[in-house]
Amino acid sequence: MTINAARLQSHFEAMSEIGKLGETGTCRPTMTSIEKQAFELAASWMQDAGMTTRIDNFGNLVGKLEGMNPELPVLMLGSHLDSQPYGGRFDGVAGVLGAIEAITTLTEQGIKPQRTIEVVSFADEEGWRFNKGLFGSRGILGRLEDGELDRTDKDGITRRQALIDFGCDPEKFRESEYAPGSIYCFLELHIEQGPVLELANKPIGVVSGISGPLWLTVKLKGMAGHAGSVPMHMRKDALVGAAEVIVALHEIATQVIYAPTVGTVGTINVFPASRNIIPEEVSFTIDLRDIDLERRNRYEAQLRGMIDAICIKHHLTNTITEDWNSEPRYCASWMKDIISKQCDKLDLDAPELMSGPFHDSMALSYVTDYAMIFVRCKDGISHNPLEFASYEDLSLGAEVLYGTVLEVLGREG
Ligand SMILES: [Zn+2]
Repeated sequence: MTINAARLQSHFEAMSEIGKLGETGTCRPTMTSIEKQAFELAASWMQDAGMTTRIDNFGNLVGKLEGMNPELPVLMLGSHLDSQPYGGRFDGVAGVLGAIEAITTLTEQGIKPQRTIEVVSFADEEGWRFNKGLFGSRGILGRLEDGELDRTDKDGITRRQALIDFGCDPEKFRESEYAPGSIYCFLELHIEQGPVLELANKPIGVVSGISGPLWLTVKLKGMAGHAGSVPMHMRKDALVGAAEVIVALHEIATQVIYAPTVGTVGTINVFPASRNIIPEEVSFTIDLRDIDLERRNRYEAQLRGMIDAICIKHHLTNTITEDWNSEPRYCASWMKDIISKQCDKLDLDAPELMSGPFHDSMALSYVTDYAMIFVRCKDGISHNPLEFASYEDLSLGAEVLYGTVLEVLGREG
């Protein structure tokens, strides 16, 4: 291996101390002093690798290795250092530390690239603090939506205020945006967050694409009444309707065995939430994903039909709002080929697999070619302190990333 596996491991160990939760967990919320500490540590390693560093107006940490020909579009690498509130040590961190290791190795090898390389830790990938993610990666591309700065966290702090407190200037977003064509391509290393590589007994996977999530909020309305007196046949119980919809979603998403379709109801609110009142109103979220957009659309139509039928059956009304809808985003084949070639060199026999979770790559995919390298993670567990990837596997991932960077740089004439 060309990369320094011991150094990479020591970086993971040092980073895991920042926002440490219990023995193996991490809580590193975006735009906080904890994330700032993580940025300072990562920036010191970037500087060791010969990069200049800055935090831009979106709250992204950007390390820059200036190329011999700075006019060329930049090769961008990265992921995120913010974590879930009850998260692990590897989600996002792998992509940032892997990229720093790759560029440190490049510098040590005395390679002076023509193209400028940037390593980015994107702001608020996770999205839980302000209930909307991929903030930094959408921000640099001018893809924020109206009202995003007015979103508040649980303490009532707006995104705008959090940015200002972090040292950013929301009035100067334009200065931190990238002009069309200024990014040559984007590379992200990430833990798989699923069980496919472990089941296949392979340390590394080549990502084919990111399946698009459809996020809906469904509200069912019935009629409250005394749980002791209203006869069953006269009820308009919104929670009974919700229960049937949840089961229907599960059945819709499993009608093709082994298809990558996934459907989840992750939150549910019941009103008025009293043990002796029939539930009048229930709202719940739907997360539906598939790499095949045509199939996902078909399933969405089936689900909407089922919701209507269930409402008729239980005398309910419904409203469905769409919170997010993005189509599957496929990796660039020329980049997948390069990654596969690097894996072959290391005898890794890396399978191709798709990503169910979304990543900063998804935002970048709208403006440039991108590819992702997945590292096996134990039992597919993520967003949990039990999340685990071995340092051997992570080193292999960084080595593949390094080889890929070299090949990408070699493409210029
Ligand atoms: Zn992540």
